[in-house]
Amino acid sequence: MDCPQCSQPDVLEIQHVLPDDTEVWFFSCHNCEEKWWNREGEDIDITTVLEIVRQTRS
Ligand SMILES: [Zn+2]
Repeated sequence: MDCPQCSQPDVLEIQHVLPDDTEVWFFSCHNCEEKWWNREGEDIDITTVLEIVRQTRS
């Protein structure tokens, strides 16, 4: 995975499983500190991640 901002391959990848069993990936670029999320191959933003967490909280 290359960073979409600076094209450097030095990107941290962390997998998360949300409360509704959605698998998402968090990416963080060590070079320019860009951060982004991905769900099943689609880029999503942090507000979408937080909405899923909030909607599934009982
Ligand atoms: Zn970058």
